[in-house]
Amino acid sequence: MNVTSPREITCLLAESGLSPLKKFGQNFLCDENVVQKIADGATLFPQDFVLEIGTGLGALTRALSARAKKVVSIEIDRGLLALHERTLHGLSNVTVLEGDILKFDLKALCGAQFGGAPFHVCGNLPYYITSKILLHILESGAPVRSITAMVQKEVAQRLSARPGDTDYGALTASCLYFGKPETLFTVSRNCFYPAPDVDSAIIRMELHPISGVPREDYTAVVRAAFSMRRKTIFNNLKPLAKGRAKSILESCKIDPNARAQELSPAQFCDIAKSIFQNL
Ligand code: SAM
Repeated sequence: MNVTSPREITCLLAESGLSPLKKFGQNFLCDENVVQKIADGATLFPQDFVLEIGTGLGALTRALSARAKKVVSIEIDRGLLALHERTLHGLSNVTVLEGDILKFDLKALCGAQFGGAPFHVCGNLPYYITSKILLHILESGAPVRSITAMVQKEVAQRLSARPGDTDYGALTASCLYFGKPETLFTVSRNCFYPAPDVDSAIIRMELHPISGVPREDYTAVVRAAFSMRRKTIFNNLKPLAKGRAKSILESCKIDPNARAQELSPAQFCDIAKSIFQNL
């Protein structure tokens, strides 16, 4: 069956007594060109392992399965899983797991499904938890090589922002520890069934974590720095630096009156080293 045809999607769901669930962010992609463009954008090779987030009816799953060695796809909605016998029929390199992506231990999943080998993440993400999903993947400690994901256009703008841009915030700074997210292309709301209220964009990032600073230390500094966006870096760092905020900023040559949104990932690293490694 054609899982990118709105008519076929409606019939399939209706036959099973289902309808798209807003609470799970179910907007199914119904433009085959866009599906193929996302899968191409993921830049997969035949030996690659892929973790897909949010199987839905399997539109993207099928395209990923044609390009990779194995695709493990996670779907929270048990109702949809019952339809995969029809929509993913005959795809021997696809395994669908039921559950909430945020509850999966991705290191354990990688061991069990990919023999511990590095893998790619791909997905048309549910918008109600996009940031949580991205941070869950990035902070999982699993050997993730890249992330290619459909997100709300404004989230893509935030992720592609750089220090000094209005959209630069804690999410961007946290992601920049692992790599530089780029926007590949935008997608109109009309390419979905049902159409969401916003347009979307595909972001991609290759993961090359910064070495020399543990992820936890970097994240603690970013969270503290952005805790009150209008406050100076000095005031925001005070609770974490415990009386050493001034000397730490001096040693890192950072103006204590600067705001977090003006600082680069390298500067957050310097602060983390100074606080946690006394360098
Ligand atoms: N991949 C399909 C497509 O492109 O048409 C569906 C994309 S739809 C935007 C998001 C999918 O993620 C839905 O199928 C939804 O049920 C699923 N989902 C929502 N929350 C989830 C969660 N916490 N864990 C796993 N899947 C989730």
